[in-house]
Amino acid sequence: MIEFKNVTKKYGSKKAVDNASFRVEEGEFFVLIGPSGSGKTTTLKMINRLIPLTEGYIYFKDKPVSDYEVYEMRWDIGYVLQQIALFPHMTIGENIAQVPEMKGWKDKETLSRTKELMEMAGLDPDTYIDRKPAELSGGQQQRVGVVRALAADPPVVLMDEPFSALDPITRESFQDDLIKLQHEIKKTIVFVTHDIQEAMKLGDRICLFNEGRIEQIGTPEEFKKHPKNKFVEEFIGNLIEQRVTAGDFVSDKHVTDNIDGYPEIESNMDIKEAYTLFTEYETVAVQTEAGFKLLSRQDIFKYLTEKPGDSA
Ligand code: ADP
Ligand code: MG
Repeated sequence: MIEFKNVTKKYGSKKAVDNASFRVEEGEFFVLIGPSGSGKTTTLKMINRLIPLTEGYIYFKDKPVSDYEVYEMRWDIGYVLQQIALFPHMTIGENIAQVPEMKGWKDKETLSRTKELMEMAGLDPDTYIDRKPAELSGGQQQRVGVVRALAADPPVVLMDEPFSALDPITRESFQDDLIKLQHEIKKTIVFVTHDIQEAMKLGDRICLFNEGRIEQIGTPEEFKKHPKNKFVEEFIGNLIEQRVTAGDFVSDKHVTDNIDGYPEIESNMDIKEAYTLFTEYETVAVQTEAGFKLLSRQDIFKYLTEKPGDSA
């Protein structure tokens, strides 16, 4: 479906992507992962020609991407930016319907597609279709951004860290939805993340970048069982540290000197474990490097119960 052959992208003399070769199969969930600055976004944007390549070849459906009209690429390849940018003056319905309208779909067809996608995103069409983005919560807007990329039914969807701005629990429910969606609609998805846990959960295969070069391509299983080198091993090693902890729930505004009467917990305590304290206490004091931070039952409860989309 998508093939890179010895692709290099230079900015001046610096190689942002260095001699990358890989193939994404039709219907595959392909994850690009790597540290910040390793070339993930550049790679993704070269697929739909948002960024021109310097050397090598990229094929889309066995034809070089340079043989396509740019608008064709934009229509056939849905794109989700890291920061979802809905058009603020348009309604949710209009935002979703944009590409279908450009493609000349009939109004009736566009409307039923829009409603179908809103339902997929867990947003009741009757309630939300005529609202403006500002009337939705961040999580809801994020959902709209994701389904908008699917609106014209493109065979390929590119996603650049679509969930990175979300808190850990909201993110997990998004991931679950996306897996379900992928099973239902069988898209080819190229998904960028720097989160190894997310990559392992979502990817059929994972492609790990380091300073523009590909270190390893393989299934999550292969990454775990046969890391090719030290770098891969260390990257995988982060998995263990990435559970959700009490420290993830507090911010600097919670810092306090007065912890009288509150039980003290370490910031690396697993949140599920910490949660059991709240049957007894209203508030706990989380020990962090910046000092004690107070965490209330309500703070956690909000995170655990707030399905993304419930709090417009
Ligand atoms: P990632 O998405 O993995 O964080 P990017 O693909 O955005 O990484 O960037 C890869 C490298 O290319 C980085 O070193 C970045 O600084 C550099 N880079 C990205 N865009 C530009 C640009 N427009 N001009 C110069 N250098 C850039
Ligand atoms: Mg990036």
